[in-house]
Amino acid sequence: MKKFKRTPNPAFKLSEPLDETLLEDLGVTAKTPRDDIIHLIKEHLNRRNKKCAICNKKYESKALIINYRRPTSKGGGDNIKNLQLLCWDCTTLKGNNTMLEVRKKLKLQKSKHLKEK
Ligand SMILES: [Zn+2]
Repeated sequence: MKKFKRTPNPAFKLSEPLDETLLEDLGVTAKTPRDDIIHLIKEHLNRRNKKCAICNKKYESKALIINYRRPTSKGGGDNIKNLQLLCWDCTTLKGNNTMLEVRKKLKLQKSKHLKEK
């Protein structure tokens, strides 16, 4: 059996109980250990995209952190479509915002920057 290389993932926690959609997406059972599920999510997202979803820079898998596009506190769920990989800087930048809010924030920063020039 393939062994998982585990990397710490402090910014991501799966909520209880696990979303059934997520389990179906990944083909795991409710008995799969939590750490393995987190690793499977990462592998799944990495297969599609090895870049940070916000800054678009390429990173090694271990440098990317699983993040909710829409935070659970704002109604987002544990399904693959709501998960993405971000670098540490963008995770900090995104905080508890939705992707839409982050894009607005970035646009504001950009236009401010342009005005200063
Ligand atoms: Zn980034």
